[in-house]
Amino acid sequence: MMEIETSNQSEIVDITAGVERYVRESGIEDGICLVYSLHTTTALMINEADDALLNDILKLMERIVPQGAGYKHDRGEGNAHAHLQAALLGSSVVIPVEKGKLALGRWQRILFVELDGPRKRRISVRIIGE
Ligand code: ZN
Repeated sequence: MMEIETSNQSEIVDITAGVERYVRESGIEDGICLVYSLHTTTALMINEADDALLNDILKLMERIVPQGAGYKHDRGEGNAHAHLQAALLGSSVVIPVEKGKLALGRWQRILFVELDGPRKRRISVRIIGE
């Protein structure tokens, strides 16, 4: 289990190095790596970790699902937008493992998306193969 502490209400964290460590320690040469978030207001994605792009992605999520736009769930916790944004992005990614390494493309990074922070978050990493 990977644990991270986010520092903003919405934020994207590059967790590639942490996941790579799990792959290395697993000793698995060929297989798949599942990265899964155990939360309902976070997401995972593969994309480029360019600061301007990460900002664009967060802005896009705000445009698609603005905060406080009359959602029913806001009567409780007031974080409906975060659940809805997370639902659009998805809560897991799967990456092939080849020759003991994550088979990521040149610009691809594993990105954890915080949508209702700051909070302590848990991410499950499972590597399956031989
Ligand atoms: Zn909620």
